[in-house]
Amino acid sequence: MPCNICLLLSLLLFHLLWQAIGATSSPSPTSNGRLRPCEGNAFRLRGGESSTAPSEQEDESLDELVEELIASNRKLVVVTGGVLSGIGKGVTASSIGVLFRAMGYRVTALKIDPYLNVDAGTMSPFEHGEVFVLDDGGETDLDLGNYERFLSVCLTKQSNLSTGKIYQSVIEKERVGKYLGKTVQVVPHVSDAIQEWVLQVAKTPVTHFSTQHTEEYHYHGKQPEICIVELGGTLGDIESMPFVEALRQLQEKVGYKNMCFVHVSLVPVLGSPISEQKTKPTQHSVKVMMQLGLRPDFLCCRGKEPLEPSVKRKLSLFTSVPDQAIISLHDVSNIYRVPLMMMEQNLPSMLAQRLRLPKYRKKGVAYDQVPDTCQLAKRSSIIREWTVLADSVDAPENDCTIAMVGKYCDQGDAYLSVIKALTHAAIATKQKLHIEFIDSSDLEPTADDGGVSSSSKDRLLRCDGLVVPGGFGSRGFEGKIEAIRTARTRQIPFLGICLGMQAAVVEFARNIAGIANAHSAEFVDTENASSHEDLIMFMPEGDRTRMGGTMRLGARETILRRDSLAYQLYGQKEKIMERHRHRYEVNPDWVNTLEPLGLHFVGKNTDASGERMEVVELDREVHPYFVGAQFHPEFTSRPEKPNPLFLGLLQQIKKQKQDAQNK
Ligand code: GLN
Repeated sequence: MPCNICLLLSLLLFHLLWQAIGATSSPSPTSNGRLRPCEGNAFRLRGGESSTAPSEQEDESLDELVEELIASNRKLVVVTGGVLSGIGKGVTASSIGVLFRAMGYRVTALKIDPYLNVDAGTMSPFEHGEVFVLDDGGETDLDLGNYERFLSVCLTKQSNLSTGKIYQSVIEKERVGKYLGKTVQVVPHVSDAIQEWVLQVAKTPVTHFSTQHTEEYHYHGKQPEICIVELGGTLGDIESMPFVEALRQLQEKVGYKNMCFVHVSLVPVLGSPISEQKTKPTQHSVKVMMQLGLRPDFLCCRGKEPLEPSVKRKLSLFTSVPDQAIISLHDVSNIYRVPLMMMEQNLPSMLAQRLRLPKYRKKGVAYDQVPDTCQLAKRSSIIREWTVLADSVDAPENDCTIAMVGKYCDQGDAYLSVIKALTHAAIATKQKLHIEFIDSSDLEPTADDGGVSSSSKDRLLRCDGLVVPGGFGSRGFEGKIEAIRTARTRQIPFLGICLGMQAAVVEFARNIAGIANAHSAEFVDTENASSHEDLIMFMPEGDRTRMGGTMRLGARETILRRDSLAYQLYGQKEKIMERHRHRYEVNPDWVNTLEPLGLHFVGKNTDASGERMEVVELDREVHPYFVGAQFHPEFTSRPEKPNPLFLGLLQQIKKQKQDAQNK
């Protein structure tokens, strides 16, 4: 008998141990002995502790979540848009977040995209602009980039909700029988799931980005006090209906004082020679909003010039929004002025009053009558920093032009974060940034002219620096190689990102190491594979059949060599964390051939294999600034803290400009 007990106990122990091993998911070598990155690469997410869907995190009911929000005095600010898309709803929503930060609140954000894609990962940059990548590997809408930059936080993939995601979660629940035989419907099942998602995101702590780019970060673990919810698209769109209905119901549940609506609209100017600010489009969009059961508390009106008082009064009459709560968001010299412009129009005090925020509230005053109660916020370090930022954008010491050689040059938003990161570095070095977009196909040697298109090449040569950003597909790859060859041989400061870094390795292999058929496996058909040398290879653990979420994604650690430029640029940090999104990587078998010739692989990953090449450089004696990164440094650049690799590029250009002046 005791023996049986012993046997049972040891079986139980074995089972528990087995589970524990499974739970920690020990890295398993792939066929060639390398480790799968997701398994072996232990890193803590900067953006909150967990990366599972809110609905999976805890099984709290909607009622419990509502109660929790009310008890915690957490507030929801919903930003909607009318008239047309692309009028700056994202910037408006993020700027409101800056105001709350200045008022001393912890802020988080949720972007709702009513499209059916589960995430933005499979969307073409031509169609939808860039895919923004988060620490946790979430491939999201580019507006998440605005939030991270403005709020100085790291968000999680839950902060981007799409119709695809919500339906996926509802259908999964239905499949496992969680609806107990009920007919599953848009209302109440989908609308409840949306409300639960909003409330979960609103209470999930976010990480503040205080010491970014390193392994240190500031995770205070405290829940947010404010959640900005941006509803994508334009009110009235068919696909946003379930979200609108869910938000309407949510306001009923959490109460008027805990949730307000800011509607962003357009006031066009028409007529000549006497022009007039036209209110009708805004009137109509507010009417649509009200028909859907939502009532705007604030109107943010985009336009060229400040809204005239008579126009505000007219809008107020037709929309029932008090005229003080109609905010003029006219064109300004740079986006850092947007929160300041809102502040001048007393928006923080009105928001505080409308949402009964205890620190700023003035009892017994209507929210649109409240005097400026936010003096403290105005003097906050955040507003001081933003004022300095906005002023320095307007007072540059010199101009500089960066060539951006890529294939999505017609779609301005495709490189949004790269442009922002360059802008942050330009501001920090007091330079006015110009970007020369050059389609890489135009730099390819063509059969007709036997050489590269001269006008594009001339444009490249007139630039002070070159950035070759990330990309997919073979079109224009040879043009990128040509651009990099030009930058290398003509000493033009160069930063290659992801595909740009891979192209730099291929260029060096072809033109310095004499490997004429060096290429990337991404662009060679399997039939022709033997005729090429794969300097860049498909990652062994990659998935060639499923596209969504199967790349090497998110924040990973890189170890920098102490004698490298990158190590200096990152403030002499050996370990850095940057975000990734790629399927191909440098073939480690070639490193020993290229390194002695001068291409230094100064950054490597910390997966157990230690074989992923993350950063390449040329010696500074050979080239003033030639750096390539497998990761995307643009995603962690912040206005107050430019990413070191962009800063290094712009600092080098500044130095060259100053040297030229002093000659
Ligand atoms: N296409 C390349 C890869 O998958 C580069 C990707 C990128 O630039 N983001 O590895």
